[in-house]
Amino acid sequence: MSQISLNTQILLGALIGIVAGFVFADLGMESGITQSGLYVAQLAGNLFIDLLRMVLIPLVFTSIVVGVASLRAHRQINRVWQLTLSYFFVTMAIAVILGLAAGHIFRPGEGLQITLFQDAMQAFQATQLSLADFFAQFLRSLFQNPIAALAQGNVLAVVIFALLLGIALVIGGDRYRNILLLLQEFLEVILMLVGWIMRLAPLGIMALLLQLVATQDVQLLSTLIKFVAVVLGATLLHGLVVLPLILYCTTGMSPRRFWSGAREALITAAATSSSAATLPVTLRCVEQHLHVKRDIAGFVIPVGATMNMDGTALYEAVAALFVANLIGIELTLVQQLIVFLTAMLAAIGAPGIPSAGMVTMVVVLQSVGLPVEAIAILIPVDRILDTFRTMVNVEGDMVGSLVVQQWINSAPQNDD
Ligand code: ASP
Repeated sequence: MSQISLNTQILLGALIGIVAGFVFADLGMESGITQSGLYVAQLAGNLFIDLLRMVLIPLVFTSIVVGVASLRAHRQINRVWQLTLSYFFVTMAIAVILGLAAGHIFRPGEGLQITLFQDAMQAFQATQLSLADFFAQFLRSLFQNPIAALAQGNVLAVVIFALLLGIALVIGGDRYRNILLLLQEFLEVILMLVGWIMRLAPLGIMALLLQLVATQDVQLLSTLIKFVAVVLGATLLHGLVVLPLILYCTTGMSPRRFWSGAREALITAAATSSSAATLPVTLRCVEQHLHVKRDIAGFVIPVGATMNMDGTALYEAVAALFVANLIGIELTLVQQLIVFLTAMLAAIGAPGIPSAGMVTMVVVLQSVGLPVEAIAILIPVDRILDTFRTMVNVEGDMVGSLVVQQWINSAPQNDD
């Protein structure tokens, strides 16, 4: 097995997991073999995610501080964050527009009987979260006592603190050389741990995908097949055409070269449905396989994993149109503009964890007066959709790091 590259082992693990999942689904949930198999798969899968989460916070913290501090001059830091945020904004806007267009063309939800879902909707306890509350909550979560944020695993607050610390180290210059050296060494050690965890990735991914395939509710999927197909189609269009095109036009990198370098991260994203849990793998892929410099990757990837979610933004837009169609409401142009803006906000505010987009969906539905209870209809099919949107979320971050690196390299280097 050690003769086969890790990349190939992960691919094999994923394929075996999917096939085994179908076999277990075929045997049925009552079978003793399925139950034992799922028990082992669940345990192994969760342990793999726990290991990734274990290194997540120290990795985010050190990679951002070291990344930012290595951007030698203030001008360069400014350029990197401006370009990064512009890239995030533009690609998420494209994703939402794609979602709205797909929703308009295919009109998922039309013709479906809302009575089919009445029970689920009544049983659903809707959380009320107005746009203003959501916005305030988001802003208030940015600045936290760093020790609490590190301990609670609040990635966004850790990102902000690390950014500020990195900037302070740049401004302080040589005076704080020792702190920077210490953090650089710490980052190297954490990356060594990530390397060890990655050796278990083929098994972890096999277990997670087995579980995903074996526990799908096929009946529900077929009821909502049109919605699922529209979301998947638009998500794949964004992931397979739009993002590779942006990458090719800005850097000249072929999609094939990108896929082979990004594969480990994409498969991990599919298996974990979490951009945050995938982050250690994403960083490894862009630095080792796609050759993004550590200072750029260390900034773009962790910030992207928490803020840049093309797949989620697209999903929120299609889901809002689906709910409107289901209850027979035609959204006005202004309402669609509100969906456009709130879908982007909801994606930015969603943490990189499984089904986070479902929670922030409340904001989008409420902003245009759609019933929040409709989320009850979407939850049962979310696991499968989350798989694909998380892949596209992670892909967007990787493409972003390559694009930003290209822009930085091609800009005049007159740093002060
Ligand atoms: N699971 C997604 C992610 O981690 C977030 C979402 O639910 O849309 O990127």
